[in-house]
Amino acid sequence: MVNKESIHRSDILTDRALPFLTFKNGFLEKKDNFKSSKTRDYFKVSDNDWNNWKWQLQNQIKTAEKLKEIFNITQDESEQLIKVSKKYRFAITPYYLSLIQKFKPNDPIYLQCIPQIDELNNVGKIDPMNESQNNPAGTITRRYPDRVILNVTNSCATFCRHCQRRRNIGEKDIYISEVCLEKSVEYIKNHPEIRDVLITGGDPLTLSDSYIENILIKLRNIKTIEIIRIGTRIPVTLPQRITTELITVLKKYSPIYMNMQFNHPLEITPESSRACLDLAENGIVLGNQMVFLKNVNTDYYTLQLLNQLLLKIKIRPYYIFHPKDIIGTKHFSISIEEGIHIYEKLRGNTSGLAIPTYILNAERGLGKIALNKDILKHVNSDGTVILETWEGNKIIKNIWEE
Ligand SMILES: *Cc1c(COP(=O)(O)O)cnc(C)c1O
Ligand code: SF4
Repeated sequence: MVNKESIHRSDILTDRALPFLTFKNGFLEKKDNFKSSKTRDYFKVSDNDWNNWKWQLQNQIKTAEKLKEIFNITQDESEQLIKVSKKYRFAITPYYLSLIQKFKPNDPIYLQCIPQIDELNNVGKIDPMNESQNNPAGTITRRYPDRVILNVTNSCATFCRHCQRRRNIGEKDIYISEVCLEKSVEYIKNHPEIRDVLITGGDPLTLSDSYIENILIKLRNIKTIEIIRIGTRIPVTLPQRITTELITVLKKYSPIYMNMQFNHPLEITPESSRACLDLAENGIVLGNQMVFLKNVNTDYYTLQLLNQLLLKIKIRPYYIFHPKDIIGTKHFSISIEEGIHIYEKLRGNTSGLAIPTYILNAERGLGKIALNKDILKHVNSDGTVILETWEGNKIIKNIWEE
């Protein structure tokens, strides 16, 4: 019943909503008004070429010289780039590079794709997840009873500076051989308890349509496989790859779930929105696996806006990953305590649909652990806390450490 108390309460809720709304409107206005892109101007290509994923891959930006031609970078910056890229290569699609609004290390797109000197900082581990020890056959990673990862390439359209698999990125692109694929498929066939295969890399959508189809046929021929998942960042870094032809292939092997990695609202563009809506409207079920990245998405407003905008393009926020202890990516780290504080603000403030699960990947391949504010109740005076894996293994974490 409409009464005074309800109206008063409603006014309070409006007041609570206003600061975020102001942020959102300001952000979207600025984004819509951003027109001039040095990258797009530099290439002077037709819309046809620009919208062609093969053109985008052929014109990947991989050298400091090229970046220097596009942006006015200093000699210092250029030397830094060369130094870092000798250790960790870089490659960026013209499309993704064109999303940079200011060529400065406070731009969220810049941070994710331009090599930074901090990467040479030698803190962190190479393979904390022990992926190399959960590999029973072919290129399979198995950590769970009913599902496996099938790694098909180390190639990506744009190499993310925060990549948690950077040890695999190496010097050159590698694709799974037919023999190795057969071995992996044979393993899955011999293990009827496996019902869910997650195709990943690198980025599986860097493969040709026909090779993707080859993999999907083999998996669909295994009667015990119920769902196929594809983990990809292509809709974010090369949305032009989502063609009618690709969708026609994917549709045939339904149900297919696709998890992508949008990390910032600036990545939601007309191009990426079109790609995701096309996928969703053709029955591919979309999810997002964000990674918490310091200075990119570690403030609550940015996080909430990202998740709300994802829902508009039919992507359900699935996971937020706590950054792993990977060498060369520590400058993106936040503490578990900070992560929980940011994450928990979503609850209540926005739709439950816009709230993913916050995940810590336990070391040694012990699996994923959900993080939430209950953990803060059990913290010792030195910041440590005991977390339990799905199997009941106990691991100790310091929630203050980045
Ligand atoms: C994360 C992961 C999966 C998928 O886990 P879900 O929680 O089902 O999304 C499967 N296998 C491995 C090895 C993983 O690391
Ligand atoms: S797309 Fe994925 S695998 Fe490739 S560089 Fe980015 S995070 Fe790493």
